Amino acid sequence: MQKFDPATAIQRINSCDASRGVNPAISDSATFTFPEARLMTDTFHGETEGYFLYSRHWNPSNMALCQALAAMEGTEAAWVTGSGLAAITCALLHEVKSGDHIISSMTTYGGTFAFMANYLTKFGVETTFVNFQDLDAVRKAVAEHPNTKVLYTETMNNPLLRIANVPELSTIAHSIGAKLIVDNTFTPMIFSPYRLGADVVVYSMTKFINGKNDCVAGAICGSGDYINSLIDVNNGTCMLLGPVLDPMRSSSILKNLHTLHIRMQKHGENAMYLAKRFKEVGFKYNYPGLPEHPDYALFNSMMNPGYGYGGMISIDMGTAEAANRIMEIMQQKGVGYLAVSLGYFTTLFSNSGKSTSSEVPEDIQKEMGMSEGLIRFSMGLDNDIEATFQLIKESVDECRK
Ligand SMILES: *Cc1c(COP(=O)(O)O)cnc(C)c1O
Repeated sequence: MQKFDPATAIQRINSCDASRGVNPAISDSATFTFPEARLMTDTFHGETEGYFLYSRHWNPSNMALCQALAAMEGTEAAWVTGSGLAAITCALLHEVKSGDHIISSMTTYGGTFAFMANYLTKFGVETTFVNFQDLDAVRKAVAEHPNTKVLYTETMNNPLLRIANVPELSTIAHSIGAKLIVDNTFTPMIFSPYRLGADVVVYSMTKFINGKNDCVAGAICGSGDYINSLIDVNNGTCMLLGPVLDPMRSSSILKNLHTLHIRMQKHGENAMYLAKRFKEVGFKYNYPGLPEHPDYALFNSMMNPGYGYGGMISIDMGTAEAANRIMEIMQQKGVGYLAVSLGYFTTLFSNSGKSTSSEVPEDIQKEMGMSEGLIRFSMGLDNDIEATFQLIKESVDECRK
């Protein structure tokens, strides 16, 4: 595969508009005027360029962000939503009707799991959850369900940080005419799933992409025809369910997107440093950037060079009690915040089983290999990471006393 650099692609797109501001003017309008009535009719039918109709469909600020996201992903187009879950649920709903089937990785974001396991079933859409590390199991599930329309996975999953083999999964999906939808929330820039064979890439921009924890937002990236079908006025899932992102937010997220490559490098550098130090002191750690991780080779085969191995790292403290105590001490010492979510400039940590994966039933948590004492860190942009390591070490020692 030819070398692809998402950061360069975004920079090339950095749009300047008629205002001559270095940032695109914020388009703070729900509706737009037309100089001629005929143009309004043509725009309704998707037959004009450069005209906007109504902001639930398109808005110039949203379009500027979408062009930058598409450049980053290597897709033709993108569309932005009011949350990551809105992007995921719309992308899924758009592919299925009653009687259809989804095959999903057993390990997905809790809300995604709940949507497929508890909600889509109301409409006669069943999901089979499979261990996606086992490609033969995926092939078997596909063979058993010829009505499968979607294979769904996260590139890097939560909280075990396993990596999905996107090229192989894409081959399996396409062999039966199904689509591969990939949630790349944990690894923007590091992986470009569309370029690896996925049909649709979804994001919670709430996390790394925005990186400021000041809003909830999502994105759907794919081919131009696909994005147009999502916002078709007659049967587009996004147009009809209406989860569009507010243009004021699009404008602020676009400015943050331009520093994403530097942030990803620093998050990854800090997590890698900690992984090595955790290894030295004998903590039970999990990080996909070291050769001990079962998907290290796969990671290397799929990654865009130069952005590191991601900002997520976990340690296993054995019991939920120990994990909780250590997290409280770490917060007191200023390591970061005891909070869910990720991709923030300050380190965030949580006990996965009791928080972000609590929608996943305990038996499945066990089958995934999740320990109840897991502490998941989203490493911040700390300048002195050795000092952070010392504080974590002190917190663990204090708990063990
Ligand atoms: C947070 C998250 C979501 C949901 O996104 P929201 O912006 O909270 O709606 C989906 N997938 C992953 C991997 C996430 O981390």
